[in-house]
Amino acid sequence: MNPWLAGGSQTVQQQALRDFAQAMAHFFAGRHRRPSWRKAGCHEGFRIVAVKPGDVRRLSRSSGEVRVPKVGWVRFRWSRAVPGGIKSYRVTCDRAGRWHVAFAAVPDAIPAPGNGTVVGVDRGVAVSAALSTGELLHAPRLRESEGRRLLLLQRRLARCQRGSNRRRRVRSTLARLKAREADRRRDWVEKTTTRLAAGFDVIGIEALDVRGMTASAKGTAEAPGSRVRQKAGLNRGILRSAWGAFAARLEDKAPGRVIRVDPAYTSQCCSACGMVDREARESQAVFRCRACGHTDNADVNAARNVKTAAGRAVAAREGPCASGPVHREPQSDLLLSA
Ligand SMILES: [Zn+2]
Repeated sequence: MNPWLAGGSQTVQQQALRDFAQAMAHFFAGRHRRPSWRKAGCHEGFRIVAVKPGDVRRLSRSSGEVRVPKVGWVRFRWSRAVPGGIKSYRVTCDRAGRWHVAFAAVPDAIPAPGNGTVVGVDRGVAVSAALSTGELLHAPRLRESEGRRLLLLQRRLARCQRGSNRRRRVRSTLARLKAREADRRRDWVEKTTTRLAAGFDVIGIEALDVRGMTASAKGTAEAPGSRVRQKAGLNRGILRSAWGAFAARLEDKAPGRVIRVDPAYTSQCCSACGMVDREARESQAVFRCRACGHTDNADVNAARNVKTAAGRAVAAREGPCASGPVHREPQSDLLLSA
């Protein structure tokens, strides 16, 4: 009935069924959304379990081999440290047609510096992340020329006939370009979250509903122009995923040290005097308090408010007897039940 099913490995199919059962169990327990349908050409991949220590071996500094059931040894580029104690791995093909192998292991948390420092992070569109230290961080984007090429390809794709070879070619070129941007951004997320986890004991971020958020197109692109709308839409999608990944990676690297702060008023409140003022945000970049005259970069001002709220949350969890100056205590004492 389904001859293509018999062509594959039995364990792969069993595992896919088991993964699906697990996903449905999570869905019914309210821990996750309904699992989505898989689509040929879009979600290509499989998972291998019961991996033995000898199934992965190194060939040289930059290459290795993994034993794939029914396939044999498959070479891969050793692009990052492979953890010990591998239990399973997943082989996937991304939209750019690149095959990846990912080994599953729980990553080690980065130890807290233990200096009692708190940092606030304000994630945004014009500035990817503003820190309460005054630092403004920008996630990499496509270069101007790459952006132009992207739009060109998108227009060309729209003119292609559905199902044609030309369309397939244009789509794969487009996917490669988008993948390049996504790769740069992922790299930025990894580096930035590592730096934050290693440099501060407590990291406050806004509790953003990333999935439901839609950033406004105004002030999204640095240069207003005819392409703002398309560009905004693209950036929005990628940025949204980067924001979600940013928080998730931070939680992985600094478990128990990330505090999610209610984002209400963080952008309207003066970090110097605490006055809430709707009109204080003079422009996208400038915050000027009309009560005390404090002027700051608007995103940095928001980050400072996040920091204050995070510090307050830590003090509250530690209890009234522990109030006072920030303690130099081991990480476990900062463990938060969030
Ligand atoms: Zn003020």
